Amino acid sequence: MTRKLFVTTALPYANAPFHLGHIMEYIQADIWVRHQRMSGNEVHFVGADDAHGAPIMIAAEKAGITPQEFVAQIAAGRKQYLDGFHIQFDNWHSTDGAENHALSQDIYRKLKAAGFITSKTIEQFYDPVKNMFLPDRYIKGECPKCGAKDQYGDSCEVCSAVYAPTEVVNPYSVLTGATPVMKSSEHFFFKLSDQQCVDFLRGWALQDNRLQSEVANKCKEWLEGEDGLGDWDISRDAPYFGIEIPDQPGKYFYVWLDAPVGYLASLKNYFGKTGRDFDAFMADPSTEQIHFIGKDITYFHTLFWPAMLKFSGYKTPDNVYAHGFVTVSGEKMSKSRGTGISPLRYLEIGMNPEWLRYYFAAKLNAKVEDLDLNPDDFVARVNSDLIGKYINIASRAAGFISKRFNGVISTAWATSDDAFLANLRNAAPEIQALFEAREYGKALRAAMEQADLVNAYVDANKPWELAKKPENDAKLQEVCSRLLEAFRILTIFLKPVLPQLTTQVEAQLNLAPLQWADVTTPMPDQHVIHPYTHLMQRVDPLIFDQLFDAPTAAPAAVADAASTATSTIEPLAEEIKIDDFAKVDLRIAKIVHCEHVDGSDKLLRLTLDVGEGKTRNVFSGIKSAYQPEQLIGKFTVMVANLAPRKMKFGMSEGMVLAASAADEKANPGLYILEAWPGAQPGMRVR
Ligand SMILES: [Zn+2]
Repeated sequence: MTRKLFVTTALPYANAPFHLGHIMEYIQADIWVRHQRMSGNEVHFVGADDAHGAPIMIAAEKAGITPQEFVAQIAAGRKQYLDGFHIQFDNWHSTDGAENHALSQDIYRKLKAAGFITSKTIEQFYDPVKNMFLPDRYIKGECPKCGAKDQYGDSCEVCSAVYAPTEVVNPYSVLTGATPVMKSSEHFFFKLSDQQCVDFLRGWALQDNRLQSEVANKCKEWLEGEDGLGDWDISRDAPYFGIEIPDQPGKYFYVWLDAPVGYLASLKNYFGKTGRDFDAFMADPSTEQIHFIGKDITYFHTLFWPAMLKFSGYKTPDNVYAHGFVTVSGEKMSKSRGTGISPLRYLEIGMNPEWLRYYFAAKLNAKVEDLDLNPDDFVARVNSDLIGKYINIASRAAGFISKRFNGVISTAWATSDDAFLANLRNAAPEIQALFEAREYGKALRAAMEQADLVNAYVDANKPWELAKKPENDAKLQEVCSRLLEAFRILTIFLKPVLPQLTTQVEAQLNLAPLQWADVTTPMPDQHVIHPYTHLMQRVDPLIFDQLFDAPTAAPAAVADAASTATSTIEPLAEEIKIDDFAKVDLRIAKIVHCEHVDGSDKLLRLTLDVGEGKTRNVFSGIKSAYQPEQLIGKFTVMVANLAPRKMKFGMSEGMVLAASAADEKANPGLYILEAWPGAQPGMRVR
């Protein structure tokens, strides 16, 4: 029976480019979707940008553009990542789209009519200069526990204390530096504490293997906890970039209300474009709604989201599958600590996207476990397994078929009992079931066990030996034909993971796109294949130096300078005293935003946090060396007491430090300085 599947990944917040964690989640979901398509199921796989909320509103204001323009810029950058890693969403939309406004308001109206919306007046910090209520993250001050300065309004990064913003000592607004005042406002709440919600969620979350067991257990804790479920604050006051609450002027939905509704909105948008009936599809009891998410947002997806849908009369999710985080060599990825990997950089330095897809797949299972990217492990799995075991089979066999037999496959042997190929075909149902269960690591292990058997056949029959004597021609054609049939079956096993490579294989073997059902349909006798061309390069372990090297570090250039006697560096400047140096106030600055400057081919506009409770605008002539997204989140060094300078494009409030060679024509590299992990914005460099 053909299944009808509606599959989503979590919606990324539209204030930054994708990071490796996004790419991992999309690859996990994309593999599952491709597996479903190969099974003949109907799948609709959609994503969208999560466009609303205070952080985007504020970032847009700083950039001097509207929030709509801001999220449009981010959205324009999505395609290069998705195409680059062969992630095949049917549709990519935005939570600011018309469909989402209509659906969110409809869900709210229905919840209200059913008695699930309540309101109460609450007191919150308010910025009297900016005239807006401040989210916790926009309040800073001294930690009430340890006294550390410049801590966020909800938690201390020094002592890890968690507290309410009202407990912060000497609080100030991150936006203006003003002391916030308490102000009351009416807020709207979704009554998650309602017994009907609790009863429904008990059934929904704990039955039908809907959730992974560890997630279901967490839900049980939340549901059975002493405090029970609290009502959920779903409103925010203007100014806010979001969706207006019907009949409540100046009130907007909190971004987390309309973000998951964006799943439905993207599907509806897609169905609108392709002439399908959204309402009929969602009303069909056989439709399965499946969300892939990160472990950090399970609360939203296993309590609020299903309850919201249930009591507004919408379809509830069939499955929510959570994954862990990506770590790098055993450490949490962190841009600020220099352990981040930019997915774009991965592509730019020429690393094959399917290496990463294969590596992630080899490490993924159905549990909520973190996934470690370890360079040695990566090289071993790609070079030893993927290339050494799988690609090797084609390179052993296809050349002989092309050169010696005009590309003709012979299956005269197929009439005899063929345990070798039967065994391979018999592995398919188990591998298929492992993909279905999101046990990709086990699926690839099972496929590689089969590849081992095929390689044992290669070693036993030695086609390169057979090729030496013309009287063995028939045997050579048989062995190589059998090997290519085995290769074809293995290709089906790997196809959900390696879409690009399998497209090449299909072209070379002259086959229609392979489906799971094709496992049992051998290539026919006298089938003609195309000449073999090499399918995939091995990973050079040295490439990881480029992947991890922030563009700031240039050890190669340093080594060259040291080893070349004739190297010339710029002559040293006149000697100074320490007091002279002290006049230059160097500070650690965090690059919170970076963008191109319209009309300038040299400058980037940097938004810097120097720990002052406001940000600085700095223009820097480094456009030739960096893409804006490479710099966002990095910690650099700036001259903080340089007199502000009026430039053609606006005021520049300081200067960031970058290295360059004496002869910029011969050696045009530009290298911005990056601080050692742990340095915080505003620390003085002395
Ligand atoms: Zn503290």
